[in-house]
Amino acid sequence: MADPVRTRIAPSPTGDPHVGTAYVALFNYALARQNGGSFVLRIEDTDQQRSNLQSEEMILDALSWIGLDWDEGPDVGGPHGPYRQSERTEIYREHVEMLVTSGAAYPCFCSRERLDAVRAEQKAAKALLGYDRHCRALDPEEALKRRESGEPFVIRLAMPTEGETLSQDLLRGEISIANSQVDDQVLLKSDGRPTYHLANVVDDHLMGISHVVRAEEWISSLPKHVQLYRAFGWTLPVFCHLPLLRNADRSKISKRKNPVSLNHYRRAGILPEALLNYLALMGWTMPDERDQFTLEEFVENFRLEDIRLGGPVFDRQKLVWLNGKYIRDLPLEDFFARLRGETLSDDYLLQILPLVQERIDTLADFIPYAGFFFVGDVEYEDKALPKLVAKGHTAPQTAKALRILVEDHLDPVLDWNAAAVEAALGDFCAAQEWTSKELFMPVRVALTGSTATPPLFETMEVLGKERCRWRLRGAIEVLRGMKA
Ligand code: GLU
Repeated sequence: MADPVRTRIAPSPTGDPHVGTAYVALFNYALARQNGGSFVLRIEDTDQQRSNLQSEEMILDALSWIGLDWDEGPDVGGPHGPYRQSERTEIYREHVEMLVTSGAAYPCFCSRERLDAVRAEQKAAKALLGYDRHCRALDPEEALKRRESGEPFVIRLAMPTEGETLSQDLLRGEISIANSQVDDQVLLKSDGRPTYHLANVVDDHLMGISHVVRAEEWISSLPKHVQLYRAFGWTLPVFCHLPLLRNADRSKISKRKNPVSLNHYRRAGILPEALLNYLALMGWTMPDERDQFTLEEFVENFRLEDIRLGGPVFDRQKLVWLNGKYIRDLPLEDFFARLRGETLSDDYLLQILPLVQERIDTLADFIPYAGFFFVGDVEYEDKALPKLVAKGHTAPQTAKALRILVEDHLDPVLDWNAAAVEAALGDFCAAQEWTSKELFMPVRVALTGSTATPPLFETMEVLGKERCRWRLRGAIEVLRGMKA
């Protein structure tokens, strides 16, 4: 009997749940389901500084929302756990020692200063940058003594120095790279924690992953991974690197040009099945060329081999068009339930009501006053538009300020609430030497289209991060179009 098909999605919990994660998860999910196999969710949180639990929760939540369920993972457990890399440190240490013993890896004691000096020399000589393998020549006994004496060290992979590494990618065929081009990669850091390469390969093997289906950006790691499998004496999985999603200008999808957070699409009223359907069209076509199909139909029909490599463009308008078809297909009671589940949920209304109660006189005032909580893009009231430009600043200056506000101060906020927003706006003012008076009015107008609104921080909390950043981006465009 053939080995079971086991696939995985291995997100790093370092930010908002990304549309690319859902894209890669979809193909992994479908491959596992099509073959009666298992789909594993593993959290790659080896980067202690950037990883956090909040992001992990958001990723799990977003993947559940979109409808991709996993058989094993940090929340549901499974026979190959733990599924969070930060809980597997001992496993990586044991494995790296196996490589040191066999000579496939070695401790390196070089200081940061020495590494910098080597790099500077290589740069000056226009040579290939990389570790000069200084410690590879150390006598193993001597190296062991130095480790035992408490000297700091990392462990590096001893890459072959000659010949080439051949790897197979399901979509690209054979990929060969001269070994002289590949660095002696760090496997274990000086704090005893693994790098991505070590943890990823060890886990894929121990978790019995048969197909590694991941984004194209990891293809440059492939030779290192192949050498690691060889060093351990393990069988290679099938590797398949999916094309990257692209912006309309074909650059890698980025939040400057396209919303990339799954929460954005959820908030924008995209149905999860429409988003999945749209993602399935990225680089793949149904045999009968239909645009609209269910997840089950996709699972039944798709073949990994048929994915096209030319980077698929993520086109929001097409997504909205497809979503419209889904909306129209909903039986009325489902349509009602969807609206009440997201856009008009009790939970959302109950967040808004306290902000407007003091400020309206009749129930009928609610829609005109609070309408901006429900729409995608706001329209600026005539008298509010000039206030989009900060007092004492020009339109381009305000555009720049809002861009800095979004990118440097709001994007990093993961726990989005009024206090966090207030702190972020305050940080902006301190860093840019703006007063809150100068900043708040343009932000208010950008977010609500009006100058008279409920309190700003609470309003931002309820609108949510995605809607705020989307509207601020919209305002930046408007400001850029204004005369200075
Ligand atoms: N942790 C990596 C990521 O965030 C996973 C790469 C892989 O699938 O090997 O994309």
